[in-house]
Amino acid sequence: MIRTLCLSLVLSLAGAAVAQTPAAVPVQHASHAASQDGPTAAEVWNSLMAGNQRFVAGKPQARNLVSLRNKLASGQSPKAIILSCSDSRVGPELVFDQTLGDIFVVRTAGNIADKVALGSIEYAVEHLHSPLLVVLGHQKCGAVNAACSGDKMPSPNLEAIVEKINPAVIQAKSYAEADDLVESAIKENVHQSATDLIANSEIIRDAVKSGKLTVIEAEYELESGQVVRLNTPASHQN
Ligand SMILES: [Zn+2]
Repeated sequence: MIRTLCLSLVLSLAGAAVAQTPAAVPVQHASHAASQDGPTAAEVWNSLMAGNQRFVAGKPQARNLVSLRNKLASGQSPKAIILSCSDSRVGPELVFDQTLGDIFVVRTAGNIADKVALGSIEYAVEHLHSPLLVVLGHQKCGAVNAACSGDKMPSPNLEAIVEKINPAVIQAKSYAEADDLVESAIKENVHQSATDLIANSEIIRDAVKSGKLTVIEAEYELESGQVVRLNTPASHQN
């Protein structure tokens, strides 16, 4: 059914944002365009960062939502896929100052990539051809904090979330001091999710390999409102 619906999508990248920051941000595989007409992953990332700067400054772009809504009724062509935490303070449309049709968002507590999240992302990669996937963690993440606590969760479903985050906690414990454990585990967990996406999805893996998709790891800072791109954690660099 999804495939049938997709066939009717009108793909139009004409309105896609282009880089708005003065300095281009280097992005792995950035030289590969998503399609002949679409923006590159680097251009999309730069447009998200420009949106984040507007959010930080409290100056969001004015939008005509009614006209946009009407235009998008015939189809969507989101320029980026965002896997983020469900935390109410981290809404990707807001923090990147994006609007209807701009980003395909998958949210789970702890931004974990379970099968349903993977399937959702595969849909956007395979059918909507978004060139960029951002895994977005955030400071003071309650799900990562729960995993760090080692406490038994009150339900099997909550336990399933913590189990997904536990490998990141183990990595963080190998080098982080107690005060720093949660923050280190948050970064490790973003990396873990990004790794899981590629390891557990042939569609995502192939798209990355062929240069059609770029995966970026990032963290949202609660107080400043800034999204910061993360480097690969020290524990995974060799
Ligand atoms: Zn969270």
